[in-house]
Amino acid sequence: MDLIRARTVTLVLEGEGVVRAVVGTAAVSLSGFGSSVPDALRDLAHRIDRAEDVKVWVPRRAKPYVRSGKTFLDCPECGHPHVVPDEAYKTIAFICEQCGEPVDVEP
Ligand SMILES: [Zn+2]
Repeated sequence: MDLIRARTVTLVLEGEGVVRAVVGTAAVSLSGFGSSVPDALRDLAHRIDRAEDVKVWVPRRAKPYVRSGKTFLDCPECGHPHVVPDEAYKTIAFICEQCGEPVDVEP
């Protein structure tokens, strides 16, 4: 079973009147095609539903919280807590130093 970790769907104009909606990477991806963006997205959704050997997973975002005057972000993948530096203006994403996964932060 392949797992596609995805936060976005990419739209590509493949040619005159052919739109491709793709999720994933060069290594593992699923694509849907159509003559319009809605058609391509519907085809992609249908292919994701039918895929038995590939699952698409949307990573959760980290939610900031304050404890003892410090702001923390727990990695949603492994639970490792990250301290947000006091001088940081606003953290929008980070790479977990424990598991190495990229993590988006809730606004
Ligand atoms: Zn982690």
